[in-house]
Amino acid sequence: MADSPNVLVVGAGFAGMYAVYRFRRQGLTVKVLEAGSDVGGTWYWNRYPGARCDVPSLEYSYSFSPELEQEWDWPEVFSAQTDILRYANHVADRFDLRRDMQFNTRVVGVEYRQDENLWRLTTEQGEQFEAAFVVMATGCLSVPNKPELPGADSFVGEVLHTGLWPKEHVDLAGKQVGIIGTGSSGVQAIPELAKQAGHLYVFQRTPVYTVPANRKQMRNDVQQEFRDSYREIRRMQQRNQGGISTFRPLQSDRRWQREGVDRASEKQILKLTPGQRRNLVATQGLASLLAFRDVYTDPEANDVANELYREAVRGMVADPVVAARLLPKDYGLGCKRQVLDRDYYATFNRDDVTLVDLQETPLDTITAQGLRTSDMQYELDVLIYATGFDAMTGALLKANVRGRDGRSLADKWRYGPVAYLGLQMQGFPNLFTVTGPGSPSVLCNMLVAIEQHVNWIGDCIAHMRNNGFKSIEPLAESEDEWIAHVNEVAQGTMYTAPSCNSWYLGANIAGKPRIFMPYVGGYPRYRERCERAAANGYEGFALQ
Ligand code: NAP
Repeated sequence: MADSPNVLVVGAGFAGMYAVYRFRRQGLTVKVLEAGSDVGGTWYWNRYPGARCDVPSLEYSYSFSPELEQEWDWPEVFSAQTDILRYANHVADRFDLRRDMQFNTRVVGVEYRQDENLWRLTTEQGEQFEAAFVVMATGCLSVPNKPELPGADSFVGEVLHTGLWPKEHVDLAGKQVGIIGTGSSGVQAIPELAKQAGHLYVFQRTPVYTVPANRKQMRNDVQQEFRDSYREIRRMQQRNQGGISTFRPLQSDRRWQREGVDRASEKQILKLTPGQRRNLVATQGLASLLAFRDVYTDPEANDVANELYREAVRGMVADPVVAARLLPKDYGLGCKRQVLDRDYYATFNRDDVTLVDLQETPLDTITAQGLRTSDMQYELDVLIYATGFDAMTGALLKANVRGRDGRSLADKWRYGPVAYLGLQMQGFPNLFTVTGPGSPSVLCNMLVAIEQHVNWIGDCIAHMRNNGFKSIEPLAESEDEWIAHVNEVAQGTMYTAPSCNSWYLGANIAGKPRIFMPYVGGYPRYRERCERAAANGYEGFALQ
């Protein structure tokens, strides 16, 4: 047996990193096993050109260290992957986290040893580790989805996936590059790839709703105001539905009054006249459509916003045929994770970019030289998959988890993920998931969600040790009740509209049960529920 710490953590992304800090501070020994060669998780793997975060960096940052908050400089308001990875490395250095981490170590087995009440983890290299507690900090979007396309193995050019982008520079100069997929990753990568490649072919199956990202450089006075207000900002995050404070330094909110739009109607697009709506999009851009509450719940309001969106795209893309192909038609705003872009539509006005609509001319096969659709052969040197992830459950299932009586997690989850509060599963005692299915996770500022979960798990382990408990797991009825609640709050939102096919629902993976996986009831309500369970002696859990 290689090692036996108190807690084994799988994954050295932001969750695993904080787990080391937190668990160490409470006197536990901890060891992290990580497949990559260093820290950073998502930001370690997703190095494709254009990768950046859609949450402002001053908020997408750890809150556990006031010193860290004061000393780190963010160059941009919404940071690029390189800056976020630099931050992760800084945190790892500053708190000496790597001392308890083993890299290049992929966990392929997580097995509960019932007689010893221990978990045994097996790695790809055959090493084994044991601990009383396991924390799966494996991320929500960490298992790349690479669809099995006919003929894929015959392609002789270079194959890349946005979610597994090489560390080394990829030279695309003068090359014929194809990219499959127009979700967040594709939309971010396409404008950058177009600048680098000889010619870029975008193979689109479903058009996307994307709005321009905030491109502001960080201003020193804004950063300073955040630093001066961080304690209040962190409190505001705890009260916000998505874990993002509404702190707006130096920014006037009188804009709406100037535009002649009162704050009540800000929430409902149907309360504006057609002229006011058009004026709003013309003066404030596409992102203004996202501010209306009824767009997410009322199909009529949703249709109004969708049509305004389409009208705006027609104005941005020079060729009307290309514009028509880029317009989402079968689903509405708010169904999928909102995509943010930098010059996405303008990129299709370039002569060296071709949009191929796979609904019009379906993909026939990948060939040795490229990709063939029903009407054309496209010669390619490089084929890039921007085809997303097996989200939320993928990494947990891939780790081959087996609980009591040898029951696999895959068996427990054959009809969809069954868990309590996205933290634990019945039959898998002392195993915890960070931002697991049924928790706000991907609908929340991830750093806020991660810290809340790791703190809860740390407190739970402390409670057990202080009170002589050897095992904790949820009651079956707690799981049932929680899943019913998770489903109930998702009903009536655009997320679960019949026309919606998103990775939130597992709809991007063939054969995956269609279940809405994250908790949409808001972070504060969720956090209070977790706190109440703990305060009531871990209500809903069986402690032994
Ligand atoms: P995604 O949203 O799932 O998009 C995958 C794309 O690949 C879709 O356009 C999909 O088309 C296409 N695709 C999949 N299989 C295909 C096939 N067999 N043939 C043709 N096309 C296929 O994945 P993603 O873009 O990687 O984004 C996933 C999530 O990661 C985001 O929603 C976001 O949460 C996160 N992310 C965030 C950022 C950011 O912070 N800004 C950036 C990147 C990613 P269909 O729609 O037709 O299936």
